[in-house]
Amino acid sequence: VTDTQFQSSYYRGRFAPSPTGPLHFGSLVTAVGSYLDAKSHHGEWLIRVEDLDTPRVVPSASRDILVMLEKLGMEWDGQVVYQSQRHDLYSNAVALFNKREMVYPCVCSRKEIADSSIVGISGPIYPGTCRDSIRNTHNWINDRKQSSVRVKTDQRVVALTDCVQGFLSQHIGKDIGDFVLRRADGIFAYQLAVVVDDAQQNITHVVRGSDLLDSTPRQIFLQQLLGYATPVYMHLPIVTNEEGEKLSKQTFAAPVSQFNVSFQLVAALKFLGQNPPRGLLGCDLNTFWQWAISHWNADNVTRTGMPTVFMT
Ligand code: GLU
Repeated sequence: VTDTQFQSSYYRGRFAPSPTGPLHFGSLVTAVGSYLDAKSHHGEWLIRVEDLDTPRVVPSASRDILVMLEKLGMEWDGQVVYQSQRHDLYSNAVALFNKREMVYPCVCSRKEIADSSIVGISGPIYPGTCRDSIRNTHNWINDRKQSSVRVKTDQRVVALTDCVQGFLSQHIGKDIGDFVLRRADGIFAYQLAVVVDDAQQNITHVVRGSDLLDSTPRQIFLQQLLGYATPVYMHLPIVTNEEGEKLSKQTFAAPVSQFNVSFQLVAALKFLGQNPPRGLLGCDLNTFWQWAISHWNADNVTRTGMPTVFMT
């Protein structure tokens, strides 16, 4: 086996929950999809707890999520990584961008931005007020602690072909505009952290919810600026409740129960377009995972998911 053969068959995936509440059927689907895609490729499956947004973090949630994954029989590889312990990595990336004059401090308030912007794919397109007004060559990144840090976008078009959602392209400057890498309260933005972490952890395949599809071109843009490889992307359908809202803590999604585990796992498989036999209901976890890994077919995952009985 040559090096290139090894590299092309190498698979490292991850599940990256935000610890804002316990696992619910929606996050279960994402966990199951990313786990099965990794395991069916004989790959690794890592867990990264995305706990940067401290005001939204629920202290017991990350433990609850990990305990539940164990109860579901989902084994991860290596140590669980916590973003809250990786500030140096994100801070180094911002310093590197700064050295290359690719970022600038922004002191605009939300209201100022809302009043002077047109709305793009991910909210208001920042009109560039601070990009033009602050000619700052000195040590602003440390002096101006109260400002957010924005990356300068350009004219490039970023395109990707997602394994489930298909082709997508965005004009980063026109559709998105200069976006925040570090908030004014000092919290690093998800867009930056996820790019740094996926590269640092050598993630080859990102399997996650389709609510993040729109932010993928921004992440590829940052990967290009930093010279990082772009992983393969698969955006799984999102589970919604009867009102059509994404299941989440805000929509009072019921936590995954530690009882009838195989029923919930079978429901997750069905939502992902797989075709589990009736016999899997009520079976033991080993039997379940053996069947699920050996029969996983990503081509059967649909863009919006298949109807299934689940607990909202
Ligand atoms: N932490 C994000 C979430 O829970 C997932 C981020 C990712 O997979 O890139 O929605």
